[in-house]
Amino acid sequence: MKNVDQYIFGKGSSHQLKAVLNKRRLQLDGPVIFLVDAFFKSLELEFLNDAFESGDRIIYVTTEIEPTVEYVDGIVESLNNLERKPVAIVSIGGGITLDCGKALSNLLTNPGSASVYQGWDLVRNAGVYKLAIPTISGTGAEATRTCVVTNKATGVKLGMNSSYSVYDAIIMDPLLTASVPREQYFYTGMDAYIHCIESLEGSYRNRVGDAFSRECLALCREVFFSDDMLSDENRERLMVASYLGGCAIASSFVGLVHPLSAGLSVVLGVHHCEANCIVMNSPAMAQFYPHAHSEFRKMMRKQDVTVKEGICHSLSTKQMTDLYDSMIVHEKPLRNALGVNFNQILTREFVANVYQTM
Ligand code: NAD
Ligand code: ZN
Repeated sequence: MKNVDQYIFGKGSSHQLKAVLNKRRLQLDGPVIFLVDAFFKSLELEFLNDAFESGDRIIYVTTEIEPTVEYVDGIVESLNNLERKPVAIVSIGGGITLDCGKALSNLLTNPGSASVYQGWDLVRNAGVYKLAIPTISGTGAEATRTCVVTNKATGVKLGMNSSYSVYDAIIMDPLLTASVPREQYFYTGMDAYIHCIESLEGSYRNRVGDAFSRECLALCREVFFSDDMLSDENRERLMVASYLGGCAIASSFVGLVHPLSAGLSVVLGVHHCEANCIVMNSPAMAQFYPHAHSEFRKMMRKQDVTVKEGICHSLSTKQMTDLYDSMIVHEKPLRNALGVNFNQILTREFVANVYQTM
């Protein structure tokens, strides 16, 4: 299993970015491309200003919609006029920005559209050196071997699953997550919890993945059962949990929650982490993940966070068909959760009833 080659952890560690990049700039000649979550556009990120040099580029990444094939291809095209190959891609933001950085790195050395590489081990050449600085914790995108991209033409949300998608370096600075709004902090944090629940309750298990998952869950429980999930210590804990959850899922699979959640994202445009919470909160999950469903609700109440309900109550037949089609394609996680005969359990009627509880 390929892990991130280098990580730097600690409050204020983002200020080491300049030194890390300088090492590369001494060896190679070329610009650094910074992909930055648009949230930071109007804010002064001192560590970014310090690391930026003439000839570098900053691309602000929108988080209004999750990455699509067109959006990622557009970023690559915007760099067509570069005279020299970049020496590094630096992604600063949440899962959306981190995934765009992975896709960009791969597409700068592999020809064609992002859609060509959606699937397992389709990326042929190592990408440009890439470094991530997460500013919100939970998805584990900083550690995983995938970058999730939605293909509107095929209606499928699928990553470039490849060892080449793993970051070369990450800088985890818990000071950067202080500004995350409460609900978003909970939704994204819960992604780490849900990844590990699904992994531990699945049939494709391995002891390394299990160990990462158990520690990730222990940290999530500390954070989300505490009185202040956003305290300095808890933001540190959640940043570690996110990283460990990413390592766990890199050597295992998710389960039933993620495919159902992918349907909500593709058909109704609900963002990944909020969609997961909507699924986990659904009474229908009590039959599949009884303990986690009840624990999730306790954490939600403890943190006084609300999760939308009723979003699938009055959908058209076409929308229900689309929901089913975009969830059932996720064979690997569904097999992990329900066995090889998952199709016999997940009939159209059964799945429609499950969605109607959300
Ligand atoms: P995000 O990138 O969707 O951002 C969520 C929101 O938080 C945005 O509005 C963003 O601007 C804001 N934000 C980020 N940092 C902030 C800060 N410090 N202060 C204030 N606001 C801040 O975040 P996410 O939930 O981490 O990522 C979701 C994406 O990750 C989805 O596209 C999903 O598909 C992807 N994902 C990828 C993997 C993977 O392994 N590659 C795993 C799970 C999810
Ligand atoms: Zn997830």
